[in-house]
Amino acid sequence: MKKIAVLTSGGDSPGMNAAIRAVVRSAIYHGCKVYGVNRGYRGLIDGDLFEMDLASVGDIIHRGGTILRSARCEEFKTEEGRKKAVNVLNVFGIDGLVVIGGDGSFQGAQKLSELGFPAVGVPGTIDNDLAYTDYTIGFDTALNTVLDAISKIRDTSSSHERVSVIEVMGRHCGDIALYAGLAGGAEVIIVPEEDYDIDEICKRLIQSNNRGKKHSIIMLAEGVGNANEIMEQIKEKTGLDSRATILGHIQRGGTPSAFDRVLASQMGAKAVELLLEGKSSKVVGIKNNEIIDMDIHEALAIERKFNSNLYKLASILAK
Ligand code: ATP
Repeated sequence: MKKIAVLTSGGDSPGMNAAIRAVVRSAIYHGCKVYGVNRGYRGLIDGDLFEMDLASVGDIIHRGGTILRSARCEEFKTEEGRKKAVNVLNVFGIDGLVVIGGDGSFQGAQKLSELGFPAVGVPGTIDNDLAYTDYTIGFDTALNTVLDAISKIRDTSSSHERVSVIEVMGRHCGDIALYAGLAGGAEVIIVPEEDYDIDEICKRLIQSNNRGKKHSIIMLAEGVGNANEIMEQIKEKTGLDSRATILGHIQRGGTPSAFDRVLASQMGAKAVELLLEGKSSKVVGIKNNEIIDMDIHEALAIERKFNSNLYKLASILAK
């Protein structure tokens, strides 16, 4: 293995830069050349590659976003597009590719491997929606961003004695809502994985208002529905003053947390090791505090298990 390429693909996440740094520096440590690919699979098809050295990843470990930029690329979903990408990789003499991204990006990596090109995936997404790994890079930072927002919204909700519905990202996965809701002491957490009863929620809100509670925070995962609609229902059914806040893309930015930087560093280095060992079609993860690797196909087939115990605990504690 002499030349490794690295790209970031799909939605960006804080910590992707730390992962790129780990790939570049550990590959150079092992005597390899490293190429960065701009704009994910789009850049791969277009041949937008450049050689990276130790200095090219200096001063980025603390920065959000991705210096390689990210993109979604429809052409890569076609066999023809992927063949173009493999041609580019061969022309540049690349022997292996590290793909930092989410499940869609991993499917792309798997298909490259099926064409005989070695590829390894590193999980970079705030959603934490990949079942084979306990955590993805960016999830912890996103949680802390949401937590900060909850504190600020709580201040103003309390002053005005309001109910606040806060919508967070995560697509079909409720982990951001669950973990941030528990950590932020939200009164109600609504996620796609668990049924909810709007009347039951309204009853609790009325009861706690009657007990003298000044405010209530409702964490809503985007996969369930729109914060404005839920807020309107609550307003109508309870008569309580309510507001909706959709946090949006602030959750995807910001300086990565210590946890995400350490995780990204370990995972980036592991991906390089796998390629150097001649392994392909693998993804890197963390399970029970150990960095692991798994076949991509197997990893993507694992059904995601929602942490119902944590959800139950959050509702017991939120009174
Ligand atoms: P996030 O979870 O943050 O959205 P992601 O990696 O899942 O990240 P996607 O938009 O699903 O984001 O995928 C990123 C890119 O990966 C796509 O634009 C496409 O180029 C490639 N890709 C996705 N699915 C496939 C597939 N089935 N086959 C080949 N390539 C794919």
